[in-house]
Amino acid sequence: MGTYDAAKSQIVETAQRLTKKGYLMATGGNLSMRIQGSSAFAVTPSNYDYMKMVPEDICVLDFGLNILEGSRKPSVETSMHAAIYQVRPDVNAVVHTHQVYASTLALLNAPIPALFDEQSLFLGRSVQIIPYAPSGTGMLKNTIARHVRDHNNAYIMKNHGALCFGHDLERAEHNVEILEKCSCAYLLALCTNRKVTRIPLPVREIAFSKLRKDQRKFEEANPKIK
Ligand SMILES: [Zn+2]
Repeated sequence: MGTYDAAKSQIVETAQRLTKKGYLMATGGNLSMRIQGSSAFAVTPSNYDYMKMVPEDICVLDFGLNILEGSRKPSVETSMHAAIYQVRPDVNAVVHTHQVYASTLALLNAPIPALFDEQSLFLGRSVQIIPYAPSGTGMLKNTIARHVRDHNNAYIMKNHGALCFGHDLERAEHNVEILEKCSCAYLLALCTNRKVTRIPLPVREIAFSKLRKDQRKFEEANPKIK
């Protein structure tokens, strides 16, 4: 087994599960994982069918974006993933999808307020909309890096898709599912034209402080990326 094999296998398994569940479509989206104990991360290759993907297709790079392993071209959003790990030391896994309900809110420019307890506990205070920038550009990378510093674990990218984080890949995958459930419920509620109620503010704040407490543990475990 090579140094990165476990991470590569986990990324492929997660990508295929998310594809079967309909969160990833065709070759859209990308996944990555910080490699514990090394200054590197693993990311899905560019423009490649998730259901055909095998661990050898996964690319491993350092934070200077030099390829350490893998013969395929890394995802066009690789620099965005690296920037997230740099500004969010608590994050060890990033999943970017074009999931439908969150993408609909991306078109409406509608952030999701705190609607459910589990949303505040896992996704953060609210799901904010990150302004639009074209895919695969430095502009997108910089915009994302600026907007994810508020310690939420899910964001909607305007006219694009969704971004979910976790202290591990399993948590990031669950956050994708929680985000889609919240997006769907919020959209249905908005369709009624009736007032959408939120959870009480103190409950949201208690949940968020619990999330921050967990995040700090992971922040301390990761070395700073220069
Ligand atoms: Zn995308």
